[in-house]
Amino acid sequence: MASEAHRQQGSCPTIPSESCGKSPEKKGSAADSRPGTAMSGEMDKPLISRRLVDSDGSLAEVPKEAPKVGILGSGDFARSLATRLVGSGFSVVVGSRNPKRTAGLFPSLAQVTFQEEAVSSPEVIFVAVFREHYSSLCSLADQLAGKILVDVSNPTEKEHLQHRQSNAEYLASLFPACTVVKAFNVISAWALQAGPRDGNRQVLICSDQPEAKRTISEMARAMGFTPLDMGSLASAREVEAIPLRLLPSWKVPTLLALGLFVCFYTYNFIRDVLQPYIRKDENKFYKMPLSVVNTTLPCVAYVLLSLVYLPGMLAAALQLRRGTKYQRFPDWLDHWLQHRKQIGLLSFFFAMLHALYSFCLPLRRSHRYDLVNLAVKQVLANKSRLWVEEEVWRMEIYLSLGVLALGMLSLLAVTSLPSIANSLNWKEFSFVQSTLGFVALMLSTMHTLTYGWTRAFEENHYKFYLPPTFTLTLLLPCVIILAKGLFLLPCLSRRLTKIRRGWEKDGAVKFMLPGDHTQGEKTSHV
Ligand code: NAP
Repeated sequence: MASEAHRQQGSCPTIPSESCGKSPEKKGSAADSRPGTAMSGEMDKPLISRRLVDSDGSLAEVPKEAPKVGILGSGDFARSLATRLVGSGFSVVVGSRNPKRTAGLFPSLAQVTFQEEAVSSPEVIFVAVFREHYSSLCSLADQLAGKILVDVSNPTEKEHLQHRQSNAEYLASLFPACTVVKAFNVISAWALQAGPRDGNRQVLICSDQPEAKRTISEMARAMGFTPLDMGSLASAREVEAIPLRLLPSWKVPTLLALGLFVCFYTYNFIRDVLQPYIRKDENKFYKMPLSVVNTTLPCVAYVLLSLVYLPGMLAAALQLRRGTKYQRFPDWLDHWLQHRKQIGLLSFFFAMLHALYSFCLPLRRSHRYDLVNLAVKQVLANKSRLWVEEEVWRMEIYLSLGVLALGMLSLLAVTSLPSIANSLNWKEFSFVQSTLGFVALMLSTMHTLTYGWTRAFEENHYKFYLPPTFTLTLLLPCVIILAKGLFLLPCLSRRLTKIRRGWEKDGAVKFMLPGDHTQGEKTSHV
């Protein structure tokens, strides 16, 4: 095969100067030299021809007809890939610069040998080395000609910005006689080893050769992954950028939560630490690491929870005003609606922290001193029993409501996990997220109200004229609860239900003709 490809090179005069010297004859009409052809014949057979993992977990002998796959590199990714491939019924040959040193790290059924030998027979070769070492593989160009090279590499953020050409395109430019497929880069070595059930199942695949893409897709499927066609090799840059993204859907909600935390922390710091220091010369800076944080956490959790339900209210109001559901929401509202899950989970996270911090409050040395000082004061004042009935009740009720609210938030968080959410039907999911979510908001509001009690009306709780923090946090949830009450009024709820079933105010769908800005809205009775 290699020598055949070698012979054909002579007829092709255009060899890219940076390439490893092979002509792009794969793009010619000779069907038998197409890299996918030989492999596709093999791939027509079932990939897992028989069970390879025995009941005791050990690997059984690989059948002779098992498709042969090569791997260049013997690092973490190569090892995990070899394990998964062997377990999926493939015959694996690993090419290393130093096979003696690395052979022991691979499954016994994988053959570890020198690079030249490893690439001689398989039609599909995984390149599990970093981009900067691609050029060191140029000596293999003869053997690799006409084969499928799978580029699994991920650039670092710096490399991604530095190179305009994706790693896969660079590999293709070095080996013009090969077909390069970008695949498996979004799967970590750990996910490969643990098996697709424990990791991300999707394998994004792109290549300029549909046949090669099909071959790799079949391999991915045989390994238990779900292939996703991303188009031509030009998409490789986009595919390579995916693992560089850090929790993209969490960015805005996290920044929002942090922003709220900073604002509330500063507010509480001014009220609880700075004001006593300036007005009464009392040193309360010790409160900063725990007490002030604990006053801040429920504020953030509560406001975030309201922000989960506010966009729904705004969307309902907009639909009522427009009299239709067929008009797009503004982008900001659309994004907000899409981020509700993340905001809700962050609310749960802050509420959990609040519960943990609250458990720690009595453990503080300062709390113990306060208790002793109070006891001494009581003795000096000759009071035998300190018991304020109203305070006792207030605390019992607000703690109980707080625990209930946290329990409800935990339920919401658990049901938002994909494995649980998938087991619920649409009605059940909507009941938990919408109805029980609103109950959680009500319970949190009652928890806050009983915590605050009459303090909002007592002058001594206005430090530097700043109202107690809980009064600020109550504003948004109260507006939402009021709005929810309004939407439950029969006149509004009936209209909203009709709109959500497709009814429109004018009985018509309004749209703008493309490019026609002068005539404004046209009406179509679609
Ligand atoms: P690694 O552990 O550092 O392994 C790289 C391997 O490249 C080495 O073991 C070495 O094997 C081989 N190699 C070939 N030519 C080389 C040269 N000239 N200089 C140095 N090494 C050379 O890296 P890795 O984590 O397996 O990653 C390998 C590729 O997989 C990278 O492109 C990476 O982006 C991609 N990837 C990795 C993961 C992951 O979770 N690790 C996930 C997705 C993608 P020999 O010494 O035996 O030749």
